[in-house]
Amino acid sequence: MTPARVILKKGKEQSVRRYHPWVFSGAISSTSGSPAEGDVVEVYASDATYLATGHWSPGSIAVRIFSFKKCEADREFFRKKICDAWQYRLNTGIAGKSDTNVWRLVHGEGDGLPGLIIDIYGSVAVLQAHTAGFWHIREMLAGLVLDILSETVKSVYDKSESTLPFMAHLGAVNKFIAGKEAGSSAIVSENGFRFRVNWETGQKTGFFIDQRDNRSLLRQYSKGRNVLNMFGYTGGFSVYAMTDAAMVHTVDSSAPATALADENVNLNYGDNPRHKSFTADAFTYLAGMEREYDLIVLDPPAFAKHQTALDKALQGYRRLNAVAIEKIKPGGIIFTFSCSQVVSRDDFRRSVFVAAANTGRTVRILHQTVQPPDHPVNIYHPESEYLKGLVLYIE
Ligand code: SAH
Repeated sequence: MTPARVILKKGKEQSVRRYHPWVFSGAISSTSGSPAEGDVVEVYASDATYLATGHWSPGSIAVRIFSFKKCEADREFFRKKICDAWQYRLNTGIAGKSDTNVWRLVHGEGDGLPGLIIDIYGSVAVLQAHTAGFWHIREMLAGLVLDILSETVKSVYDKSESTLPFMAHLGAVNKFIAGKEAGSSAIVSENGFRFRVNWETGQKTGFFIDQRDNRSLLRQYSKGRNVLNMFGYTGGFSVYAMTDAAMVHTVDSSAPATALADENVNLNYGDNPRHKSFTADAFTYLAGMEREYDLIVLDPPAFAKHQTALDKALQGYRRLNAVAIEKIKPGGIIFTFSCSQVVSRDDFRRSVFVAAANTGRTVRILHQTVQPPDHPVNIYHPESEYLKGLVLYIE
């Protein structure tokens, strides 16, 4: 089938010429035919030169581009894309490690596949389509993953139920779509630490793989410290800190999350009195605590999912960081993060700056952290840099 053509308004081709992978609906002058949600379309400049190929959506991002060269979007095309993504992870030392079998194989725009996420948990790959375009070809993609990673991946689970556009009414049901059925969870290994990951009930695809390097960095500072892991979820930071911290407290508002953190600490250290977890709201817990911690992790969920919520989100980061900076022991260290895509690095840093200024304490920046290489940032798509972190030293 010949793809529908999307013709841009005069002057609106610049961003596509600079390889930005999104075409906004306002940039479109006309479309030939009437593409359905998820159809492959070709993007043309107003003078009819070909620019790119991608998936059509009826929303404000009308086309998500996966190729800037004329192509057939067929099995061979996507085989090459997934092979490239895998080769990149081998070249950057993430795939094929003996002590780590949890990593991201495909990271949307960062891998030139906007709308597609594929995470690897040992022998299970979890695929998450954020667009109808990728959901329609999920079985083909799953077959390719089994084929390309045949030595490690034996099953592919589709977890797109809650990530597909609601209005598309695709009726997605989370389930295994290729290889053998493999239950709902597995124990995986990250830098030699063991974690129970449940792709069926867990948040996102089951684990926050993107904090791997920051967890390693935290381990360097945890010796002898009293650690508070706020928004702890699976207890990722807690497990690393437990290596040599004096004590570790994990706090999360979700009871299943704190139970999972307990299980993961147990998997690595047995029933260890140095760790305790609390099911509590972050702001309530922080308001009630004494100056008992000298290492605090603040890794909240995205405070802003859309531009309209930006101001409120920045206020949230200010409030949260202000209490932690106020209440940490002198000589303490704070790992503070924002994973909101609409909050820029500068915005986040300014919020933390205001929080620090309000407390009047001396604050130094030890590190500014980013997402790890298996969550690559596409240089042409600054929006893909979503995870921002600051490591602070508080006098
Ligand atoms: N640090 C984690 C990921 C955190 S995800 C890791 O490394 O895996 C954010 C977590 O914040 C979720 O588990 C969610 O349950 C929790 N959360 C959301 N709102 C909260 C609140 N108000 N107080 C405490 N925890 C909250």
